[in-house]
Amino acid sequence: RFPKQHQPKMASAQRGDGARKKNVVIQFEQIKKGGEDRQQRLKKTKEEKQVFKIRSKGNPHLEFGAMINEYRKSIEFHPLRESDPVKDYQIAVCIRKRPMNKKELNREEPDVISVPCKDEIVVHEPKVKVDLTKFLENQRFRFDYAFDENCSNELVYKYTAKPLVRTIFERGMATCFAYGQTGSGKTYTMGGDFQGKTQDYKKGIYAMAAEDIFKYLKSSEYKDLNLRVSASYFEIYNSDVFDLLANKVKLRILEDGDHQVNIVGLTDILVKSVDEVIELIKLGNISRASGKTSANSNSSRSHAVFQMSLWAPDSNRVHGTFSLIDLAGNERGADRTSANKQTTLEGAAINKSLLVLKECIRALGKKGSHIPFRGSKITQVLRDSFIGERSKTCMIGMISPGMFSCEHTLNTLRYADRVKEHRLIYKEQR
Ligand code: ADP
Ligand code: MG
Repeated sequence: RFPKQHQPKMASAQRGDGARKKNVVIQFEQIKKGGEDRQQRLKKTKEEKQVFKIRSKGNPHLEFGAMINEYRKSIEFHPLRESDPVKDYQIAVCIRKRPMNKKELNREEPDVISVPCKDEIVVHEPKVKVDLTKFLENQRFRFDYAFDENCSNELVYKYTAKPLVRTIFERGMATCFAYGQTGSGKTYTMGGDFQGKTQDYKKGIYAMAAEDIFKYLKSSEYKDLNLRVSASYFEIYNSDVFDLLANKVKLRILEDGDHQVNIVGLTDILVKSVDEVIELIKLGNISRASGKTSANSNSSRSHAVFQMSLWAPDSNRVHGTFSLIDLAGNERGADRTSANKQTTLEGAAINKSLLVLKECIRALGKKGSHIPFRGSKITQVLRDSFIGERSKTCMIGMISPGMFSCEHTLNTLRYADRVKEHRLIYKEQR
């Protein structure tokens, strides 16, 4: 009665329970492994096919590439140079374009971003008319600084976070946000360059800021304040806070009578050198990457907050805090197509927090306006950074240069543009 392939199983069952179980387990492992292997193979062939399709047909995108190159001939490039002055902003909004990566180059994806000068970005958006003729919609944006693909982390730091170090010595709050799509370079910029899989923390904004904090501490101007430095590192996922310096233990947020927002029990460690800071970042990143549940295994779905605070010698009040934030990937907010409930919730939480964040920064720039910091955990935690005349903030919007990222890139640019209105300079079709 049974189909043929079931017969061997029956036979093993007759041999006794132990043997059968073992057999089933082995079979299951084999099936699982077979499935995984097949998936890997499928993924690989799919990628290969895509590349093949593009190559063999004569890459249809190459035409766009040629049009962009043609357009670029009309641009006079004057990129940011080391000698350009560093301006003092209460709110600075900057854009960084990363170089094309291997995958984009393999696919012969055109690079759709030009950085003509130190504060402008042009997006060459490929479009097709109803009659199938191709054209470019070129959109030019202005920001406080625009970093092209040749800029190093050091240069980006010099114009973004570095000018904020003094703020915390002057009893102010400083924040620096890395915003953008997953894969656009947020962690690279904040945490440091990658040499293969290992990250060179010394070349990240976290460590460079720490270095300058210790320099200021010893400077003739501030050494008499006898300040101490502490560091903490935590992650916000949905509306939960996890301590990255304490095995990702979940923490509560409480607001006291003075509307002071506290993360209860957050590890805050006194640090004496940049090396100690780097050790903490390493420790935190190990924690960040760990976690068995899907809920926290992917760092692109959470906001990471690294904070350094200054303390007066004989008081428990903070003198100033520098918060450096690697935000969750902004593409999830835009993803409404996902059928998975978990992903949809995550996306909604990220979307909401990024919208509230934008409003809070905008409010910082307008005296006396209402600050909607209660709208999300990240802004609640950073509440003190959005109030007071001594608060300064900078946002670095990261963008991927490839044509397939064009929509996300435009989203990032529009968001950055609204955080501090620079206004779109022009939009034209060619
Ligand atoms: P995100 O944190 O935004 O998801 P990552 O920082 O992890 O993105 O960067 C994605 C990949 O691109 C990494 O392999 C990183 O090394 C590389 N990358 C990002 N920015 C740059 C850059 N400016 N120069 C060279 N490589 C970069
Ligand atoms: Mg990242």
